[in-house]
Amino acid sequence: MSIKKFKNSQELYERGQAHLVGAVNSPVRAFKSVGGSPLFISSAKGSKIIDVDDNVYIDLVLSYGPMILGHRFPAVEKKIKKALRHGYSFGASSKGELKLAKMICSAFGSMDKIRFVNSGTEAVFSAIRLARAFTGKDQIIKFSGGYHGHADALLVAAGSGLATLSLPGSKGVPEDAVKNTLVAEFNQIESVKNHIKENHNIAAIIIEPIPGNMGVVLPNEDFIKGLNQLAKEHKILIIADEVMSGFRSKFGGAQDLIGLNADITCLGKVIGGGFPVGAYGARNEIMEMVAPLGPVYQAGTLSGNPIAMAAGIATLKELKKQNPYKKFNKIAAKIEKAFLKGSKEFDLPVQVNRFGSMVNPFFTKEPVTDFPSAQKSDTEMFKIFFWEMIQEGLFIPPSQFESWFLCSSMTKDEIKKVTSGIHTALKKVA
Ligand code: PLP
Repeated sequence: MSIKKFKNSQELYERGQAHLVGAVNSPVRAFKSVGGSPLFISSAKGSKIIDVDDNVYIDLVLSYGPMILGHRFPAVEKKIKKALRHGYSFGASSKGELKLAKMICSAFGSMDKIRFVNSGTEAVFSAIRLARAFTGKDQIIKFSGGYHGHADALLVAAGSGLATLSLPGSKGVPEDAVKNTLVAEFNQIESVKNHIKENHNIAAIIIEPIPGNMGVVLPNEDFIKGLNQLAKEHKILIIADEVMSGFRSKFGGAQDLIGLNADITCLGKVIGGGFPVGAYGARNEIMEMVAPLGPVYQAGTLSGNPIAMAAGIATLKELKKQNPYKKFNKIAAKIEKAFLKGSKEFDLPVQVNRFGSMVNPFFTKEPVTDFPSAQKSDTEMFKIFFWEMIQEGLFIPPSQFESWFLCSSMTKDEIKKVTSGIHTALKKVA
């Protein structure tokens, strides 16, 4: 291990304060909950990422999910370069949109048609508009600690950056915008039942099938069965927010693996291969309500951008070819083992939740099954752990409440570095 220096990152961070809010364009990048100066990145390749001080890290953030093959995967880069030669944006349809739509719909039993947008946030708020139009009802149920982007109606008891900064919601969101948002507790079907008993205007339940924004939490089987049943009985749609989980644990959605009967699915991250893409999709009956076929308006200047489509197609093709999901499970199991070994050896309270290529350690004694139990994690321990991992050359999310991600480019050597780095970092925490 070399002692890392951050002089250039610090300098850019200070300079950046002049014209960027907090020198960042997304709050989690500010390292606010772990302290210290955030890293500025100069380049990335495969599973490695390099900062402006030339420190090299194994990347377990992977742009918060999209880079599932690793950075600049050759087959993807080749297609991007090819697409660039044909133009960047047309304001009219292009062939790549059809191809990516077909690839995605074929991987999800619940989707006949999709609409591409530019981010996960856009996918989610469009899906909610659609669910409201389809059911003729206004209310939605979300789960505490669930993060679905930063649309007004969903900034209630949200995870991700809000959990990291301990914000209950956001200033600037009018009461009116959230009056139809009901919050239930993940894995607690009674909390959903109670809302349904008291409210008769519920259009949809929005759920991350595998939540990753309160940290990774696994749904229990009865909870998912209960949701399916309640939704069917009360004509409530299920919106599966697979912006994070889509294509991360299988070629398709985590909804299939946990038996969630999704009506509308939201995607993002992986399907854009690192470019700004989101999508929402459903069966024909629902999607045909969207303009130009139906009365639900939703549009976008850059939607279906040809470069993003090319990156998405190449990424999904490569994923299908590699089928890295067994490999992900094996790597994640090794990471879990390293944590359990370290926690025993150094007498630390550690829980590890994982699903496919999403992994999350929590510094707490009790199992983490929902947002309140995730919030019991010792964030001071996490802070020490984070900086020790950085010193070990391992870039993990600077928050207790964000999933780590794995990419298929990881080599055996790199996996060993991760597990031994975890051991060393845990020793320092103790
Ligand atoms: N939904 C989920 C589950 C997410 O994890 C995220 C972002 O992390 C979003 C929606 C929002 O996506 P974006 O940041 O692309 O707007």
